[in-house]
This record gives sequence, C-alpha cells and structure tokens, in this order.
Amino acid sequence: MGEKAGRARRGPLAGFLVAAVVAAGCAVGGVDGGEPGSDGPAEPRRSAAAPEDSGSDGPGADGTTSVAEFKRDMNGAVGTAQEYWTAQFKASGEQFRPIRRVVAYQREGELACGDQPLPRNNAVYCSAGDFIAYDVNWSVAAFRQIGDAFLFYLLGHEYAHGVQVRLGIRYNFTIQQELQADCMAGAYLGDSVRAKTLTLDDGDLDELRDGLLAVGDDPDQPWFAEGSHGTAEQRTESFFRGYERSLDACDLG
Ligand SMILES: [Zn+2]
Repeated sequence: MGEKAGRARRGPLAGFLVAAVVAAGCAVGGVDGGEPGSDGPAEPRRSAAAPEDSGSDGPGADGTTSVAEFKRDMNGAVGTAQEYWTAQFKASGEQFRPIRRVVAYQREGELACGDQPLPRNNAVYCSAGDFIAYDVNWSVAAFRQIGDAFLFYLLGHEYAHGVQVRLGIRYNFTIQQELQADCMAGAYLGDSVRAKTLTLDDGDLDELRDGLLAVGDDPDQPWFAEGSHGTAEQRTESFFRGYERSLDACDLG
C-alpha cells in the first residue's frame, strides 16, 4: 500500500507521554506478534535508522519488512487519516481537530492512559489524553507477519475511536463501538483508495483480511462482555462494509 507521491509527511511519532486524567483505552488486541523485543526497533526517535536494517524474517505479501518502511507507512497512515477526516468534517461544515499525538512504546507500563498502564502487544486510542499509542515491537512484528496494509487498518481503527469521541458517539457495549470503528477504518481506506490518495498493491486486500482474522475475538468470548471487539467474521464484515460503501454504512447518525 502506498501513498500518493508527494503527500508523505512526518507524523508526530515521537517521544514518551505522561497521560492525563480519565482512562478509556481501546485495544485492538489479539495479534500474535512473534517475538516482540528480540529484533524490534529501538525507540522511534532513532530515525536515523538505516534503510538496510530490513529484517528478512517473514516478509508480508509484498515484501515490506524494514523498520524504515514501517515508520514511513505509519507516518503515511497518520497523514492520510488526518486528511480524510478533515475533509469529512469540512463537508459537514465542521472543523476537524486532529488527534493530538501518535506515540510508540516498548515496555509494559511505559505509557499510561489515565491511570491504566498500557500493556504490551497492543495499540490503543486513549481519550483521556487524545492520543494513539502502539507497542512498536508488536506493531512491527505484525507489519512483517501480515503486511503493510495491516498497519493502515490498525491506525485507521484507532483513529476512528478519536473520531467517535469528537462526534459524541458512545455505545452501551464495547463491541458496538469496536465494530463501528472497524467500519470507519474501512471507509477511510476504501474512500482513500477511490480518491487515489492511497494505492493498493497486489495482496493488500488479502493482508487486510488476514489482519482482521488475526484481531478477531476468540469464538467463546461473550459478545457483550466488556472488552469484546467482535469475532473475525464480524470484524471482517464491518470493515468491508465500510470499505465498499463508505461512511453511510457505519451508522454515524
Ligand atoms: Zn478499538
């Protein structure tokens, strides 16, 4: 998956963050990310990262594996999401306030959302501090294992939670909030592809399907339990509903 040439921009991938007040994290959860910590990148500010530090373990379908590519794609995904939601809000006569920060972390408890330490192997949107945080080792492992399209999904899903907050959407059950975020992530990607802001490479749609399978809840997870995100089938259905039919399919009200 690639951004239109010239649109790349640097995302705010920097630093560590001491988060504020109330906690309300969302976790994507569930990807078996290989061996985080063993061969992952050091902290993201080390962006002098040599392009040749490409790992050769488990390339994605289109062979994207290096940490440099990960960073470039993450920045691209953030920029594309910001641009997309800015345009959507503008079309409704509203001004969009971009999510404040996107930050990487490596260790359990290194970052907190409110007073909840963020666990490893996850990505979250924290409404308390209006930031997205992701375990960089886990994310790079998933990027290598599944492919670059997964990263765009991951960012799109977390970004959607920030948009839900801005729209005042608050469902009673976690699963409703999560499946809507999947739909919105699908709309952001599908619309961006249709607008040619993003281009799909061969295999990207398969990577998205693989990624959605990987983040599905266990089949025995109760649907309406706190923390439920939906089964792989539910998540896939929601994502592709948004991907194909745009935001009209996502019940934004
Ligand atoms: Zn979520």
